[in-house]
Amino acid sequence: MKYKVIESLCDVCACCASVCPQNAIIMSEQKATIFLDICIGCAKCFITCPISAIEEIPDES
Ligand code: SF4
Ligand code: SF4
Repeated sequence: MKYKVIESLCDVCACCASVCPQNAIIMSEQKATIFLDICIGCAKCFITCPISAIEEIPDES
């Protein structure tokens, strides 16, 4: 499973970026961005986000 940031909810706390083992989350002034090419789907960001601003991307099939 991969994950994406719900940009309208993100409050730019950077908690997700601080736990990502791949450094796949880049912070800007407005939002966090997950780079899916680097993400290994560990879900740490999803679990960590205090306001549930990260959601699952359904697997393509
Ligand atoms: S799922 Fe894991 S590897 Fe992917 S962005 Fe979140 S913390 Fe990083
Ligand atoms: S943990 Fe959630 S609110 Fe904080 S920067 Fe990441 S996505 Fe945004």
